[in-house]
Amino acid sequence: MTAPHAPTPAAELDAADSLASFRQEFHLPPGPDGRPVAYFCGNSLGLMPKAARAAVETEFDTWARLGVEGHFEAPSFWMHFHETLTEASARLVGAKPIEVVVMNNLTVNLHLLLVSFYRPTATRYKILMEGGAFPSDQYAIESQARLHGLDPADAIVELVPRPGEHTLRTEDIEATIAGLGDSLATVLIGGVNYYTGQAFDIAAITKAGHAVGAYVGFDLAHAAGNLDLRLHDWDVDFACWCTYKYLNSGPGGTSGVFVHERFAHRPDLVRLAGWWGHDASVRFQMKKGFRPMPGAAGWQLSNAQIFPMAIHRASLAIVDRAGGMPAMRRKSEQLTARLESLIRGLNLPADKLEIITPADPAQRGCQLSVLVHERGRELFDYLADQGIIADWREPNVIRLAPVPLYNSFEDVDRVGEALRQFTISNEE
Ligand SMILES: *Cc1c(COP(=O)(O)O)cnc(C)c1O
Repeated sequence: MTAPHAPTPAAELDAADSLASFRQEFHLPPGPDGRPVAYFCGNSLGLMPKAARAAVETEFDTWARLGVEGHFEAPSFWMHFHETLTEASARLVGAKPIEVVVMNNLTVNLHLLLVSFYRPTATRYKILMEGGAFPSDQYAIESQARLHGLDPADAIVELVPRPGEHTLRTEDIEATIAGLGDSLATVLIGGVNYYTGQAFDIAAITKAGHAVGAYVGFDLAHAAGNLDLRLHDWDVDFACWCTYKYLNSGPGGTSGVFVHERFAHRPDLVRLAGWWGHDASVRFQMKKGFRPMPGAAGWQLSNAQIFPMAIHRASLAIVDRAGGMPAMRRKSEQLTARLESLIRGLNLPADKLEIITPADPAQRGCQLSVLVHERGRELFDYLADQGIIADWREPNVIRLAPVPLYNSFEDVDRVGEALRQFTISNEE
């Protein structure tokens, strides 16, 4: 037997990691043995940045000391609070500031965007999505079809993998779009599928959609803070994301929205309106007649949710200090590649355990989805006993998401070792 290629020790990689110090900026929950867990669940709820508490305390202090004057006075200026998130959000997703706004929650924003970008007509009324999309997206799209008096079964077209495959091929997505042609009103796909971890080719899908005259949008819940996105250059029409997964902005946190610059000065676009989307220069004249702000800001409804936004601002500052997505993505690819090689090194047959996430780094973010055909739940519980927080998705997938800001190479090796122990004990 030849010795397998010896990997660089994790401790060495951690010592050389320029992002290693960011781990100290997060609260790592303690595991069963008292030491911090290996937290691989940032795709579900990112860990708490230590800066979050102080950020919220500041707003409590303002509220306590100033009451309503907090809207207009330092340090908070609540009136303009949401604007302080714009530049960092634009950097995060590769957009111009006029193209982004932070507001509401993800599913709410999906609806607001679909109201504007799913405008079915008698002949062009189809909406294309991934089969097995996150349920909220399924329900949102279904109800949007009904809103227009359409039968969801007729209006919604779902992309499904080829028989025997787990993920979608870009060429199949493009062919489906071309086949739908003039009947296709809108494409709405996840940036990264929550279940398989597959990252879609956003630029190619957008191009294919535009070629048949459809609007193209993305739910970036699993892509924002995970992938290095270029929404403006990729010509995406609209997108939204949550901030509590890879952006560590707290449970139920706020959401980001992107609307391409070409719609920035289109007050004619149908939308649901509220006073916070109204031209700010005359907002407080409280007059009739909605006049939207230019850009994504014109989709706002309500005055800003200061507390979740305060946390989000602190989190975005960490991303910027870490060097933004290019730096985070470099480490992320290394972490995931190491996890992948440790899992493949178990040499288990695919009918026992298989990674369904694409092997090509360009087609995935940090998450690996492991399909466990036998004793999956047992394995998941074993990992939990070892202080490894993964997540379980019915019927038998374990999702593992090592993230660059607080996961170490040591964490990855802990998972690898636990998987090895479980496999050995299984063989005995
Ligand atoms: C997490 C997630 C959601 C959750 O929606 P909320 O409105 O934030 O509760 C929706 N869609 C996708 C694709 C998700 O991954």
